Amino acid sequence: MSDPTRPPGAKIIAVANQKGGVGKTTTTINLAAALAERGKRVLIVDIDPQGNASTGLGIASSQRKYTTYDLIVGDAELKEVIADTNVPGLGIIPATTDLSSADIELFSNEKRVFLLHDALRQPAVDAFALDYILIDCPPSLNLLTVNAMVAAHSVLVPLQSEFFALEGLSQLMLTIREVRQSANPDLRIEGVVMTMYDGRNNLSRQVELDARENLGELVFNTVIPRNVRVSEAPSYALPVLEYDTASKGSEAYRNMAAELVARYETAKA
Ligand code: ADP
Ligand code: MG
Repeated sequence: MSDPTRPPGAKIIAVANQKGGVGKTTTTINLAAALAERGKRVLIVDIDPQGNASTGLGIASSQRKYTTYDLIVGDAELKEVIADTNVPGLGIIPATTDLSSADIELFSNEKRVFLLHDALRQPAVDAFALDYILIDCPPSLNLLTVNAMVAAHSVLVPLQSEFFALEGLSQLMLTIREVRQSANPDLRIEGVVMTMYDGRNNLSRQVELDARENLGELVFNTVIPRNVRVSEAPSYALPVLEYDTASKGSEAYRNMAAELVARYETAKA
């Protein structure tokens, strides 16, 4: 169970990077599973219309009666939209392609950047006694990602260990700054995590060095290795921690969760 001494309210983390295929969904699923394994109560909010986090956790399309779309555009209640996963302590609000039209539909809504904030920062959330909420963002800096940044306490950035990795980062940081200046002044950067790292590859090592030189303490000590078990796990509808618990990928996500919890709990103290 969760720590009785923790302050009320979940820590909300937006997992964002406007590049596709950098490990956002993989990190969301497996970091969430690793936190749940530590006894934390965790909720994933899938805001990518592709719904990969939902599929990767075994939520079939037929089971997605209510989705993030119903929560933010419709008037569904939290208890209707949260689905259980096979991982104890881990729930998910799934997504479907209806979300892809949200950008346009919400354009004239004056609360359009606050919709997810209002859904996740309402007192009704306390009933679920969540420790962490991880929001899996789409590969774009669109209105959905901005909703995630407005709802969140912090942004976690997966960075793929490849040549152009750092290039998109200034645009992402600019968006974070804009959100801070407008709707969410307290938004922090949780950190940057290197994903799909190949220690035998000079390029991976060089990208890591560059990231640490430019971003310093923001970069997690834990590096997520490229590991085939990590990429296989979603087709079995499981986090890698359950699919192959002793794999290098599982070990890395456990280390990352430990680091996140340690950072967070030190910051609170
Ligand atoms: P995003 O959500 O940023 O688009 P994904 O998490 O879907 O990225 O990852 C993109 C692809 O890379 C997926 O096929 C995923 O299985 C694979 N992948 C992600 N992380 C790893 C890893 N550590 N090792 C091997 N494959 C990975
Ligand atoms: Mg994704």
